[in-house]
Amino acid sequence: MIYLDNNATTRIDDAVLDAMLPFLKEEYGNASSLQHKLGRTAHQAIEKSRSSIANYFGASSKEIYFTSGATESINMVLRGIFERYQSIGKHIITTKSEHKAVLTTLEILTKKGAEITYLPLDNQGNINLSDLENSIRPETILVCLMQANNETGVIHPLAKIAEIISSKDVLLFSDTTQAIGKYAFDYAKSGIDICCFSAHKLHGPKGIGGLYIKRKTRPIQIEPLITGGKQENSLRGGTYNTPSIVGMGKAFELISLKYQEQTAELRNYFENRILQEIEDTAVHASHADRLCNTTNILFKHVKSAELMPKLINIAVSSGSACVSGDRDPSHVLTAMGIAAEDALCSLRFSLSKFITKEELDVAIEDIKSAVQKIRKDSPIWQLYKSGVL
Ligand code: PLP
Repeated sequence: MIYLDNNATTRIDDAVLDAMLPFLKEEYGNASSLQHKLGRTAHQAIEKSRSSIANYFGASSKEIYFTSGATESINMVLRGIFERYQSIGKHIITTKSEHKAVLTTLEILTKKGAEITYLPLDNQGNINLSDLENSIRPETILVCLMQANNETGVIHPLAKIAEIISSKDVLLFSDTTQAIGKYAFDYAKSGIDICCFSAHKLHGPKGIGGLYIKRKTRPIQIEPLITGGKQENSLRGGTYNTPSIVGMGKAFELISLKYQEQTAELRNYFENRILQEIEDTAVHASHADRLCNTTNILFKHVKSAELMPKLINIAVSSGSACVSGDRDPSHVLTAMGIAAEDALCSLRFSLSKFITKEELDVAIEDIKSAVQKIRKDSPIWQLYKSGVL
């Protein structure tokens, strides 16, 4: 299997698994049981992981919180901030290209009185910064903009966004789940207030993630989503998932700029060969600043639902894993003004440090022959080629 679906999830790194194993076997103490050695060992491992993650962000360990993943982190921030700040204002700014974890949660908050402004996107997936500035109102409490899109890889200029927001009394939350490990950025120095992460997007285990919540002179208020014990400063109760937290810390330690450059080179090679060798193909958001590992390609008049089953040796996706069972066109591509017909004929390829050029060569040949076969048998393609469509 040639794995080109790394934005959905990644293969666990061997070093991550090795770091986790002792905590699944002999080191099974509850990290909150500080009365005995087993508990203290687990506690120390968790704090080491917290410190590795803080290091990546340029943050202090006290600013890092553990959750079960980015979906929980997003729920905690959106619901928890709305709960605490709604007496000040109920207005939130975002875009329609956010992950469903954001969009679905905001829809639910709308029923509780939240007013949402969705900033328009251009055909490269970018927002207009003056639209953002003009949308901020006295009752705006939060701007929620992802750093990098999971379907197209488009990167929002977070530093500039933060600069606009810095003069206003508004919090900035960024879903940084996809950008972490794939894009160098100074989170601590930027004006972002909160961002989130998920270990399984960076060769760590599934079901673990967290938040970086900045400590400010006026502390950020978040109502807890999961109440219980006093874990995570009473912001998230529940027994620590020690093996996964340890694995996540290791995954952060393994992040390297070297892999990002290598992945970008391979992604460009893959993209260029597809464009050159298969007619009527196009890369979405090709003029935008994009993640090094992601490419979303339109194969004109070849439905992805028809193409994917023919690529039996390639793991690929037509969009976000959370919605890829849908027959609807991608909400991200349609938010960029891409026609539904073209959105339905687009595939997302997402690479990782484990992919090789040889694997990409095989994938390109497989894709080429599958596309050609589908088109050969397609009346729509014949009409299109003869200029009728
Ligand atoms: N945000 C983005 C941009 C994502 O790509 C994902 C994963 O698909 C999530 C949030 C949700 O992450 P998790 O699987 O950790 O809940």
